[in-house]
Amino acid sequence: MVNMVKKLIQLHGTNDPFRIASMRNILVLYEYLGKSTWGYFSCVNRIPIIHLHELMKEAQSRFTCAHELAHSLLHPKVNTPYLKAHTLQSIDKVEREANQFAVELLISDELLLTGMTIYDAAVACGVPEEVAHLKSKPERKLNLWTNEDSFINL
Ligand SMILES: [Zn+2]
Repeated sequence: MVNMVKKLIQLHGTNDPFRIASMRNILVLYEYLGKSTWGYFSCVNRIPIIHLHELMKEAQSRFTCAHELAHSLLHPKVNTPYLKAHTLQSIDKVEREANQFAVELLISDELLLTGMTIYDAAVACGVPEEVAHLKSKPERKLNLWTNEDSFINL
């Protein structure tokens, strides 16, 4: 998952899920989705669409877009459930994968390498703290750390 997300960021030159969706010709629609739904992914007549609740704040909207983008890339044939607040703690395989993808995409390794905790980095990147633990530890960049003592353990 980590490498797949890194390749995607490299390929599109951004980690912004809205820009990646538009470059991949995935429509993003804003709709009123009721009280508890954040968004969902649909593919009708081969047109992939990410549906987002129109009344979400920017960070929540970005996270939801990243989660649904994951479904379009990883689970295009699966009828995925609506993303709701409780989905963040879901143990369902596809939901967990989509959350993991979103976390990898949105939380930058650089913040963690500077010594920020995963939870602080999640807040800084607009990621819900319930899913922050899904972020993998970034690999040390060898050119950044000259010796073992200069590495900050997270
Ligand atoms: Zn989902």
